[in-house]
Amino acid sequence: MKALVIGIDSASPYLIEKWIDRLPNIRSIFETGTHGILKSIVPPESVPAWQCFATGKNPARIGIFGFTYIGRDRHLKFGRTTPDIGCFWDICSERGMKVGVFNVPGTYPPYPVNGFMVSGFPVPTRKVWSSPPELMDRVNSAVGGYEIDVPLTKPTEMKGGEKAYLPVVRRLHDKSLQTAKLLIEWYNPELFVMTLQGIDLVHHDFWKYMDNPDSPYCNVLRDWYTNMDDAIGELRSQVGANTNVLLLSDHGSAPVSSALFVNKYLESNGLLTVKGPVKNKGDRYTKLRRWVLKNMPPGAVASIYKITPDFVSHKLTASAAIERTLQGLIDNVDWDKTLAFSTGGHQAHIYVNYDLIDKLKDDQPAQTVPDIVEKLCNMMSELTDPKTGEKLKPIFHFKNDTFSGPFQYEAPDLCVELFTKTEKIQVNPRLGTAELWSSSPHFSSIHTREGFWGIAGPNVRQGPELDAGLLDMAPTLLKLLQITPPVDCDGHALDEILVPQP
Ligand SMILES: [Zn+2]
Repeated sequence: MKALVIGIDSASPYLIEKWIDRLPNIRSIFETGTHGILKSIVPPESVPAWQCFATGKNPARIGIFGFTYIGRDRHLKFGRTTPDIGCFWDICSERGMKVGVFNVPGTYPPYPVNGFMVSGFPVPTRKVWSSPPELMDRVNSAVGGYEIDVPLTKPTEMKGGEKAYLPVVRRLHDKSLQTAKLLIEWYNPELFVMTLQGIDLVHHDFWKYMDNPDSPYCNVLRDWYTNMDDAIGELRSQVGANTNVLLLSDHGSAPVSSALFVNKYLESNGLLTVKGPVKNKGDRYTKLRRWVLKNMPPGAVASIYKITPDFVSHKLTASAAIERTLQGLIDNVDWDKTLAFSTGGHQAHIYVNYDLIDKLKDDQPAQTVPDIVEKLCNMMSELTDPKTGEKLKPIFHFKNDTFSGPFQYEAPDLCVELFTKTEKIQVNPRLGTAELWSSSPHFSSIHTREGFWGIAGPNVRQGPELDAGLLDMAPTLLKLLQITPPVDCDGHALDEILVPQP
């Protein structure tokens, strides 16, 4: 194998540094090659981060802004990996290299490559998740029923609570690792790209226990970093020392303080108006999903997804719950009176309503998009931490500085990350809440832009630490594989880390 890429979703460079003495396999890659902080994109979410990684292009060049997002036409859009966006595995495949793509988020539906592709989450129930399609049966029977994801919920809202959740994450990880090793054995690809999701899953729910020695969960995160290190060791010994190995995370993670109901804030500042009492069409499915997760053991939840008709099982998934929140925005906002709205998550994505600006342009005084953006920045700068009363630190990402390419029009006008001194604020886009803040946010940690990377192998120089950008990885890998990167990459090949090849 020429190159093995192992994506450790969400792994934090600071936690790796903290526990490096317990991570001999990661340390060996750092010491024999190079490593550093890997700056993720805006937004730091698995989709589009993995697609931007794979292409070396920003979201507006490939037209992917999230798992699910609201388009300028006010319809839901879904981030999907397609052969036309220019992933490095497709470039290699077209040149006749045998490639394997395994468990990369956002790669459903799978498409033919010279080798194989097994989709990463989200994958609808009962759909074909491998190319070639017959690979699915082979994997299923080899690992006793392959699993793509866990039911994404707060473990405390699930039957058996946190204690029952951890074995579910472990089983998912074990099956992922076992499948990766089998795929390498069956296909012997020249390039293998995979991700492991365990750290992201435990980060979201167990980060808060890390510094609490009285909690039975205080070592959960540390133990998952060592689990990942073990997996890296197993994979590396399978492929041998002659393979270049790239380790990376798509983004990092930070603890969450509180959650801001961002659209409530826009509403109270006169930028957003709702049509009337907020109605969310799918609320009964949200309640049903909550009931199922709370009352059925985890194994039975999976069976429910399998036996219910497609339209019901889809409505019970986490992705469908997010879709309902965003659809709720589209349905309940009064678009003739709303100048800006926001979708949430790890940061606030704020969109100015161009249609209304256009309608108002003859009025005096005219409101322009930059006027609204300036007002938004001022508002966001005034927010204070509901727990301490201290001013929050906003980090602004402006559309023209952040997004460039043919899909720039679809991009949010302003993205805002909100931080306290040590934590990050979760942003909830839900409408119709009585309060502006929630002190019990859904997650214990959310994503930041600081991921990590490490690379070592026969074509990599041993060198000092080097901080890089997520978009630099695809051109660097292509150069390492002696392929000229496409001219429209936003990232640059890190020539200084590569051993010149004849
Ligand atoms: Zn991720």
